[in-house]
Amino acid sequence: MKLDGAVVDKYVTKKLSCGDCPMPCKGIVKVPKRGLSDVRRPDYETIVGFGANLLNDDLELVTACHDACNRYGIDAVSSSATLAWACEAVDKGLLTSAELDGIDLRWGSGEAALALTVKMGTGDGCGAWLGNGVQRAAAHLGKGSTTSPCMSTAASPRTTTRASPR
Ligand code: SF4
Repeated sequence: MKLDGAVVDKYVTKKLSCGDCPMPCKGIVKVPKRGLSDVRRPDYETIVGFGANLLNDDLELVTACHDACNRYGIDAVSSSATLAWACEAVDKGLLTSAELDGIDLRWGSGEAALALTVKMGTGDGCGAWLGNGVQRAAAHLGKGSTTSPCMSTAASPRTTTRASPR
């Protein structure tokens, strides 16, 4: 399964919009295999964050991660950025599955991303330190681990937020 607008649209059961916007980009989706019905359509930041950012092309898992963020009230931009940092730390041998409560996180593993998203939401086990955001997670791990660009201590979104020069 690949990620693109046409694939996302297949899951939409109802379109939603802001007010009277004639181009409704929001919606309700259904993913029976994940036990999800009437949940929010993943938006751009979520699809990039839990999708391409993690080399995960399973939209149903992206949707499940998005739903977990909504249910636990955690930020999808920050959570997915922390998972990308964790994938890189695993790749570099700085972070082990034992430190991730036995979860085999690697690039492209949407199932592991979902399991860790739930842990970040509940604060269970490694979720207690992963859930504090990418910069604090890197500080917790130590071992020379560094982070991707942050604004203050928060992970950067996938859109540019620079001020316009005058
Ligand atoms: S394009 Fe989407 S986000 Fe923008 S106003 Fe319309 S519904 Fe809202």
